[in-house]
Amino acid sequence: MNSSLQTAKDLDAADPLAWTRGEFILPDGIIYLDGNSLGALPKKAVTRIEQIVREEWGQGLVSSWGTANWLSKPTEVGDRVGKLIGAATGQTIVADSISVNLFKLVCAALEMQAGRRTLVSEASNFPSDLYVLQGLERLWPGVSVKLIGRDGTFDELVDGDTAAVILTEVDFRTGAQHDMRTVTEKVQQAGALMVWDLAHSAGAVPVDLDGCNADMAVGCTYKYLNAGPGAPGFLYLAKRHQHEARTPIAGWFGHKDPFAFDVDYAPAPDIRQFLAGTPPIVSYGALEASLDIWEQVSMEAVRRKSIALADFFLDLIDQLDASYGFTVASPRDGNARGSQISLKHPNGLAIMRSLTGKGVIGDFRAPDILRFGFTPLTLSFENVWHAVGILDDIMKSGEWSNASTERGTGAT
Ligand SMILES: *Cc1c(COP(=O)(O)O)cnc(C)c1O
Repeated sequence: MNSSLQTAKDLDAADPLAWTRGEFILPDGIIYLDGNSLGALPKKAVTRIEQIVREEWGQGLVSSWGTANWLSKPTEVGDRVGKLIGAATGQTIVADSISVNLFKLVCAALEMQAGRRTLVSEASNFPSDLYVLQGLERLWPGVSVKLIGRDGTFDELVDGDTAAVILTEVDFRTGAQHDMRTVTEKVQQAGALMVWDLAHSAGAVPVDLDGCNADMAVGCTYKYLNAGPGAPGFLYLAKRHQHEARTPIAGWFGHKDPFAFDVDYAPAPDIRQFLAGTPPIVSYGALEASLDIWEQVSMEAVRRKSIALADFFLDLIDQLDASYGFTVASPRDGNARGSQISLKHPNGLAIMRSLTGKGVIGDFRAPDILRFGFTPLTLSFENVWHAVGILDDIMKSGEWSNASTERGTGAT
């Protein structure tokens, strides 16, 4: 082995981000390589949520909309998320899920692009994104969805009828990363609007939405941003489009004066228009606690450690007995992927279940992908070394073959 336990210890000793592990609750006996699906719990999220519940809600009651600034949370927290994705203030809100936010933005894009009726995405995109587009296709006469990888190539599909191109920057299965700047430019040259899904980018890789001249973006806060299950997603709309873009869900929180209770809708003149109904105040507490940590680290340092952790993992995987039959499904070049490594194996489900039983938590995506997420704020190199050691054990002993491959009812 070139990479040894000693290598891991040396890398950990030199890690400038090692301190952040202490900011999270990490259960004993678990090596958590699934922070790309649900990020770990920041310790201060517990106290912040308790404060919101006991003080702001319990004592402040309805007056907390003003006294605890509940009303401005979606934009205040939105601007803080904006800093992590290269968005200047006034362009990002946090509310609703990716699916709902994508619906809002793509509807707005279709209205802005009168005459253009094709929506282009990728067959490999996250299914919910595709379902949202297919739902729009059903609702909106003349709209059609074309998928790269199923209906043609990018160059074949993006043309003068394309209203918007909707892509996830980092592929959820393989971790492969699009070049945001180049793709955005190509899409805009064709006269289409570019909508990025940053579900596997925010908190995983440096993102520069403003610098890349992106039009619109969505993302979530419960994966790499550690805001907890059901935490709201974010929506970015470039300032230059805010006078024109119209949300299809004209709710009261997007009205220019929600508490005037006017009969007629009048949109807020800024990003707030894309709010719909009452925002999830308690969830913002976890996100605020998480952002307090994120604001103390640089995205460049996070990226460096992310690539180093994943490269270390790959190095250890390469040293496993070739007869185990793993192949690497992610780009080997750290700069061409997000913060995960996917392995392919025909018995992937049983192997992942066996690993999970031994305390190494990753996940499985059908038909044959084992996903391992590398979250630099909560992982050490020694964790990675132990995880691959346990994988080696269950492959060597054949123990993995005892794991069930029945399809469960929950998430895998
Ligand atoms: C996780 C994920 C989603 C989830 O969307 P929600 O509506 O927030 O549940 C959407 N798109 C991508 C690419 C994802 O990875």
